[in-house]
Amino acid sequence: MSSQFDVVAKRHASPLRIIFIGPPGAGKGTQCQRLTDAYGIPHLSTGEMLRATQNGSALGKVVSSYIDSGRLAPDYLVMRIVIKRLAQPDCAVGSLFDGFPRTIHQAQMLDEWLDEKGDSVDLVLSLQVEQETLVDRLLSRSRIEMRADDNKESISARLRVFHSQTAPLLDFYGAKGLVQAINGMAAPDDVFCEITRVIDATLAGS
Ligand code: AMP
Repeated sequence: MSSQFDVVAKRHASPLRIIFIGPPGAGKGTQCQRLTDAYGIPHLSTGEMLRATQNGSALGKVVSSYIDSGRLAPDYLVMRIVIKRLAQPDCAVGSLFDGFPRTIHQAQMLDEWLDEKGDSVDLVLSLQVEQETLVDRLLSRSRIEMRADDNKESISARLRVFHSQTAPLLDFYGAKGLVQAINGMAAPDDVFCEITRVIDATLAGS
């Protein structure tokens, strides 16, 4: 019986590396989870990985100070976590990067790490959602998931950080011809269809 990993492996000889760029509340996590089921490619959320360190340890306390205030955790710390995760066998088939990279420096470090392995980023999906909708979504998520950073102060800090530190990645990857824009205002099912269409076109062209 062939696994989902075999399906992707047969369609794409090298690992499929896809980056999702979008402000908080754009739907990156929701879409990545569905895509993991559809393509068998692991979902790497640096937000989830960082939250998993919040267990009372010294590292967890440092991480909390960044997450709770809506600031980015230091690049070296994030890279250490990502590289450890990428070395796990399931990532041989590819990875869906959710919330990573978030700075040009992280993107450069990822490129270098992949390049050493003869690997590279295949596609960057830019999820576009209007600011007002983002705030509404994040505030309603705070009622359901009780995330400490889904409060008004932290939300506005995270949106500011997105525009100043993460949005420049669209030019960085745009210069490499890797960026595809996705209308994140559409219904989740429609967003999913649009993303799968773009991924399938990438697979067909590879
Ligand atoms: P997220 O779950 O992606 O919204 O991330 C929640 C928080 O984790 C962010 O506001 C940052 O404080 C931190 N974080 C997640 N990913 C990164 C990253 N790639 N670089 C730095 N900080 C990050």
